[in-house]
Amino acid sequence: MRRHLIAFTFVALPLGAVLVRAQPGVKSESGLDLSLLDRAADPCIDFYAYACGGWTKNEPIPADRSAWGVAERLQEQNEARLRKILEDASKNPADAETKKIGDYYASCMDESRINARGAAALDPAIKTIATLSSARELGALVAELHAMGVNAFFSFGAEADFKDASVVRAIADQGGIGLPDRDYYFRDDPKSTEIRKQYVEHVGKMLALLGSPARGKDESAGAAGDAATVMKIETALARASLDVVARRDPSAIYHRMGPTELQVLTPNFTWSDYFKGVGAPAIDALNVTVPDFFKAFDQLIAATPIADLKTYLRWQLVHASAAVLSAPFVDENFRFYGTILTGAKELRPRWKRCVQYTDGDLGEALGKAFVREAFGPAAKEDTLKMVRELESSMEADIKSLSWMTDATRQQALVKLHAVANKIGYPDKWRDYSALGIVRGDALGNSQRANQFEFHRQMNRIGKPLDKGEWEMTPPTVNAYYNPLQNNINFPAGILQPPFYKAGADAAVNYGAAGSIIGHELTHGFDDEGRQFDAQGNLKDWWTPEDAKAFDDRAKCVVDQYSSFTAVDDVKVNGKLTLGENAADNGGTRIALMAYLASAGAAAGKTVDGFTPEQRFFISYGQGWCQNTRPERERMLAQTNPHAPARYRVNGVVSNMPEFAKAFSCKADAPMTRANACRVW
Ligand SMILES: [Zn+2]
Repeated sequence: MRRHLIAFTFVALPLGAVLVRAQPGVKSESGLDLSLLDRAADPCIDFYAYACGGWTKNEPIPADRSAWGVAERLQEQNEARLRKILEDASKNPADAETKKIGDYYASCMDESRINARGAAALDPAIKTIATLSSARELGALVAELHAMGVNAFFSFGAEADFKDASVVRAIADQGGIGLPDRDYYFRDDPKSTEIRKQYVEHVGKMLALLGSPARGKDESAGAAGDAATVMKIETALARASLDVVARRDPSAIYHRMGPTELQVLTPNFTWSDYFKGVGAPAIDALNVTVPDFFKAFDQLIAATPIADLKTYLRWQLVHASAAVLSAPFVDENFRFYGTILTGAKELRPRWKRCVQYTDGDLGEALGKAFVREAFGPAAKEDTLKMVRELESSMEADIKSLSWMTDATRQQALVKLHAVANKIGYPDKWRDYSALGIVRGDALGNSQRANQFEFHRQMNRIGKPLDKGEWEMTPPTVNAYYNPLQNNINFPAGILQPPFYKAGADAAVNYGAAGSIIGHELTHGFDDEGRQFDAQGNLKDWWTPEDAKAFDDRAKCVVDQYSSFTAVDDVKVNGKLTLGENAADNGGTRIALMAYLASAGAAAGKTVDGFTPEQRFFISYGQGWCQNTRPERERMLAQTNPHAPARYRVNGVVSNMPEFAKAFSCKADAPMTRANACRVW
């Protein structure tokens, strides 16, 4: 469980990219990119249009992307650096670890060898699936598939115990579906119905590509029947799954039970075989997040013919492996997940995909080299200083809140003081020496990397929680708060221009990087984070009176964002996005407070024609400049806890009287909300 700054796309979903461009822009004294502005727009009517109108007009979405914004451009710049590192590593590796990333990348780039092998690389796993003769044997088979990264029926991993976060426990969660979320299986509007139809077609095509020895000649007709079978099984799993809003309540996804109790809940699935198969240590208790899901899973495997279960597992296997198989698989995978779901027109160039996969599988080995080039000790020191200033502002903010009683206020301060900061990269790097990378075996490398990571997770079970581990790699353009660890994490990848510029105008750095830090810090106190205490335990430290006051204020934010339209007929889901919106609003407020208290603000002079406060808000807004394809807007609005970029800007500034003052907006201007919302 963690909260990210920026939407993640799905595994095996190509992000799309273009050739790296030079950073465009108009030189400015402050460091702001003045070319992104649309000075014809009125900042009091639509601040996003004012701050980002230049980007909207001049930065069309490249064919191989579903979105193109300031964050994606930085990602491209980081990728270009990683490419150079990987190309060098594939030719002249300095040590064994560098050889691993070089070999992995070179194998991934060797498209002719990958194409020549076709799907043969999946044969061993296909054969194992073919031997299944009863549901009782599923335990061992599903264990083997899970270790390879196949999303079969449910997910299994390691997570801090919600109510005793000092210890890591096994966690079994809902899973096993190929569409982005459970609601995709049930919405009945024309667009959703069409996506389901296309999905079944896609499953059929993938299974036809894989071929079936049992079917012989009539491959495509048989595959269509198989696709319907897959859809039936996934629909049953989806029906028993919790939706994205329900999953925001930590109590709804915490059900601690012993293995015997779990076995009684699911009599047809042999957990002892499964636990043995995944190599888990002795399990005395685990979190079965959604017991009703596992009950339904159990009934499903008992009632479904074995042949159909095998079909479903073959689909999940080919789906999980598609990105590293031959061109027909890659192209068909992209056609559905890239084009139909997110609107991208072209597959990303191969080197970008291979950089992405190396980062995913060997991220801390690759990240070590990235950090050496892109993130020095001075940047770490500077960021840490800003984090401390943001923490002081949050403290001042908590102390000044009129709606909170002293009892809860004291607890909030205890939690704030316990937040740990992780900046740039891990203190202790991951040891990949047990992971075998073979030059020329792209799929094998990917499978072994999945097994390595899966076993690393299994090894955490039953041990004390290691809060020093990272859940994002150093080159990642993103950040997160982990409520179970009560820490904020900023990879080196995002602490780069334009989010953070060494020596830039303080208003610009606090507006962009400061707001990101404030965002993550505020997650500790959003609708979800506030339910965890200073040690990361799910424990109510609020008086009923303060909890009610919080909920009343949160409802204002829910209603505000629910009124926004994401795309066409799809509204922003105010409940789904509440935590992120609370973090955006609180984070920007405390960033402004920190800026105004800083030495840089004291002079208060106008630069580039803007006052310090104006530069702060423009810098904040420009961090979110982005053009997005409607297909992606729709998908994110239905699945992702972040509001669309323009509302992350306008939703926040319209709640801030400081903004109206900075831009002299009238009381009835659209960016001056009559009933401004404020939680933190
Ligand atoms: Zn967030």
